[in-house]
Amino acid sequence: MPATRFGKSESDVQGSGRSHGRAAAKVSDYFGCNVFGRETMKLLLPKDTYKHVQEVIHRGKPLDLDAANAVASAMKTWAMSKGATHYCHWFQPMTGVTAEKHDSFIDLAADGQAIEIFSGKQLVQQEPDASSFPSGGLRTTFEARGYTAWDPTSPAFVLDTPGGSTLCIPTVFISYTGESLDTKTPLLRSIEALNKAALGILSYFKTDKNDATKVFSTVGAEQEYFLVDEGYYEERPDLMLCGRTLFGAPSPKGQQLEDHYFGSIKERVFTFMTDAEKELYKLGVPIKTRHNEVAPNQFECAPVFEEANVATDHNQLVMDVIHRVAARHGLAALFYEKPFAGVNGSGKHVNWSLGTDTGKNLLSPGQTPQENMQFLIFLVATIKAVHDRSRILRAAIASSGNDHRLGANEAPPAIISVFLGAQLTRVLEDLEKGVTTKGTEPEWISIGIDKIPPILKDNTDRNRTSPFAFTGNKFEFRAVGSSFNIGVPIALLNAIVADALVQAKKDIDKLMKAKKSFKDAALEVLRRYYKESKAVCFEGNNYSQEWADEAAKRKLPNVKTTPEALDGLVRKDAIALFARLGVLSETEAKSRQHIQLEKYAKQIDIEAKLIIEMVMTHYVPAAAAYQKELASTLRKVAEVLPGQTEAVKIQGEILSRTAVLAAQAFTSVEEIKKSLAAAEKIEDAHEKALAYCHKVKPLFDAAREAVDGLEGLVPDSLWPLPKYREMLFRI
Ligand code: ADP
Ligand code: MG
Repeated sequence: MPATRFGKSESDVQGSGRSHGRAAAKVSDYFGCNVFGRETMKLLLPKDTYKHVQEVIHRGKPLDLDAANAVASAMKTWAMSKGATHYCHWFQPMTGVTAEKHDSFIDLAADGQAIEIFSGKQLVQQEPDASSFPSGGLRTTFEARGYTAWDPTSPAFVLDTPGGSTLCIPTVFISYTGESLDTKTPLLRSIEALNKAALGILSYFKTDKNDATKVFSTVGAEQEYFLVDEGYYEERPDLMLCGRTLFGAPSPKGQQLEDHYFGSIKERVFTFMTDAEKELYKLGVPIKTRHNEVAPNQFECAPVFEEANVATDHNQLVMDVIHRVAARHGLAALFYEKPFAGVNGSGKHVNWSLGTDTGKNLLSPGQTPQENMQFLIFLVATIKAVHDRSRILRAAIASSGNDHRLGANEAPPAIISVFLGAQLTRVLEDLEKGVTTKGTEPEWISIGIDKIPPILKDNTDRNRTSPFAFTGNKFEFRAVGSSFNIGVPIALLNAIVADALVQAKKDIDKLMKAKKSFKDAALEVLRRYYKESKAVCFEGNNYSQEWADEAAKRKLPNVKTTPEALDGLVRKDAIALFARLGVLSETEAKSRQHIQLEKYAKQIDIEAKLIIEMVMTHYVPAAAAYQKELASTLRKVAEVLPGQTEAVKIQGEILSRTAVLAAQAFTSVEEIKKSLAAAEKIEDAHEKALAYCHKVKPLFDAAREAVDGLEGLVPDSLWPLPKYREMLFRI
């Protein structure tokens, strides 16, 4: 039985009461068993078909129909052996969550017999009647054709749910005009752009053996989330409808004792975690870490990194599985960026690097001079990309949820900067000055300008406050929100780095044409890039006011709210960059901004309406009930203790404080109503989002202040909704 505000007991809170003492299962027993991956294909497909499909996956060859038919047939047999009765094209529209429309394998043959069929055509393309997904004006309902098309680079899987099993086929979702309606298409395009650009740089370092023929981004996303007993969750309309609490006085104990972070995991949570992990292993998601996070009832898990497209699909599955398995345990999983005021919010650290098909990490500093030069080009190009295109990265992490989190003393501010660590900073500073680094400590590495000696791996330097930190052999993009589809920030990051690499190649080639050696040309370009971009590098505390002041001096943008941040997608330079690389057309970029603006306005609109409802139907009535009680007490005290003015005064004081706060709550709601009415009338999406952001949302604080004040006055027994100390501590 789930916990509720009243009548809860310790045994209720223990939820489903599962046995905790189960034997540890071996991950390898079920890892990937529900995935139609390479090994399964090798086993089930004719040799030639298998070879062809691998070339489609790894070399981008077009798929021929015979092969598609063979794959579909093998996939169907395999999926049915796993208990699947239905299949679906699994796609990622711009709602941020995944979508699926199930079809059963069943069909009728010409003679009326029921048969189970799944053809190559059904595998490769579908046309869901998907008129209700956001398209940002790309489609109108009457011409609502949207196609899903198989993405063979991410393996199909069978999803088991208590109701049945479904074969899920990862797909892109595009309109009949070819414009993308999802987050996967631009991600795949960015992966290709980055591949081309990086191979361009690698062509300078060609050797006879072991040459990479493919470069891809690698990603490992650390996922933070909260768990709340579903009894409390269901009693909090704000958690259910908005994902966050709109009211709630702080619990006397929050995270100040720092006793939750990395603490021992409560049994109920542990049982949920192991169940969720088991589901994820079956789906081939390599979940590796689990721990308690900083805030009470906040947790994190992280997988072993994978190729970016697969990692993105897998992160969507992580959120989906956590959500579903938590419900089985009587728990609600919260992915919203800031569900509770006053304690940490949740983010998603997206660890990102560049890998090759020869198993090299291009952001690994390396051991030989040759590798070092290569490393430096990729490193400096990334710094240049973040510097020149920080507004694109800022747009990539913009959402109403993340607005609460960025810069709130737990997450990097809205100022995008890069952390490099002391060693690399020194290497780049010396490179800029053209001097040889002379280190005294043994771990110091010198970078001679004539010859480039080894750079040791910088793996201990950590700065937890930076939005974009180099951590040994990868960058960690920490400003991504916990509920995000990571495909969006990764696509944009891939794109800006690809563009910087293309530019670097052009600039180096130009100098080489002017008879410079490759080494001299590359060093000159790197020196210039670093000089022009180093304003974005910051090693100090990103949470401090000093950094905000310093960043302003350096003219780094500090865009605090979403409607303005989204401009980063449609500024002239951004549109030109996306078009150059073929990642997004101008129409697509604009439609994405439009969708996000609308989403933002709608989210604030829902919050505003719910605040009004909660104040009027929960909090004001609770205050009124208490006032009634106080008024009658007051009268009785005066009757029983005539002349004892002090006792009467105290009752009177409590009554008037309650009345004042209730009146404040009421007045603030009236104000919200007025500004809401004005915002609702605005047609233009940008203007509308701005009005919700700067006119409606700021009024929420007064309502909350009054209600949270009442929470400290009204008796616990009269308080209508679960409190922070219950939601955050009882599980
Ligand atoms: P921390 O909390 O110290 O940052 P975690 O172990 O929680 O470390 O997460 C680190 C994440 O970075 C993991 O998902 C890991 O697989 C990922 N990672 C490691 N190397 C790479 C790489 N080369 N490319 C992308 N991600 C990586
Ligand atoms: Mg991390």
